[in-house]
Amino acid sequence: LIHHLALIGKSLGHSFSKKYFEDFFSARGDKESTYRLIELDDIQGWKEKSLSVYNLTGFNVTIPYKKEIFNLCDDCTQEALLTQSVNTVKITKGKWLGTNTDLLGFDTALQNFIPHEFAQKAAILGDGGAAQAAKVVLKNRGIPFITIKRSHPNNEFDWREWLENRDTYRLIVNTTPVGMYPFVDQTIPFPFDLLTEKHFLFDMIYNPSKTLFLSLGEKHNAKIKNGQEMLIKQAEAAWNFWNSDQMQPTI
Ligand code: NAP
Repeated sequence: LIHHLALIGKSLGHSFSKKYFEDFFSARGDKESTYRLIELDDIQGWKEKSLSVYNLTGFNVTIPYKKEIFNLCDDCTQEALLTQSVNTVKITKGKWLGTNTDLLGFDTALQNFIPHEFAQKAAILGDGGAAQAAKVVLKNRGIPFITIKRSHPNNEFDWREWLENRDTYRLIVNTTPVGMYPFVDQTIPFPFDLLTEKHFLFDMIYNPSKTLFLSLGEKHNAKIKNGQEMLIKQAEAAWNFWNSDQMQPTI
């Protein structure tokens, strides 16, 4: 099977996908498949272009188009429906089939991070696309959660619920891009000094490998994990989706 794949997004300077898939093609001795980066200022006309200009067999989607692509898909998986967002599209006979492999990525990474019997709660920081994936995974795992997001226009977080119950909200998941390269000296203003060795900090960011959010958590003895494994697992799941006959990847 020859693949013509791409990643679409607004700004792709940080992308890992091109190298990942090109290395993958080389390892398989596949000299014909391609993976390109396509920066789009908007997705107007993208459906036609994906076929007529780029002749794609599938593509990945990143910030800020996951929701818009979901709305443009001809059909989608349960994962896409549950999150109302799509990060992977398979193009078959001109039709777009969408899924969201961030779910599987986050689920696997989380499983390898928190204890098997995790009878605690979680706080999700941010409420964008990646947060929706986190919510579905936590719900499936029976982990109750709260979502904490900034207010507009003050840009402030309300930490009260977490502060009052911080011994039960032991998992904290950063789903915001704050602290991502090149803004490595930034972090969500989390009350880090109240963290203990009982807390688990997960940052979906993978570049840098240790964000300021994670280093401050580590400094206060929390266990930490970055977005690297999630990234690899979502890419593997995308590959499986492009190669499978059936549409439904299993979480
Ligand atoms: P998104 O849909 O744009 O959502 C971003 C969220 O972060 C929104 O809730 C946004 O709040 C909030 N936010 C943005 N800037 C902020 C700031 N300065 N202060 C406070 N909150 C802020 O983006 P996304 O697709 O969810 O991606 C978010 C991050 O997750 C990115 O860093 C991305 O690389 C990472 N990610 C990693 C993986 C992986 O495989 N490791 C997969 C998916 C995503 P507003 O609505 O108020 O703007």
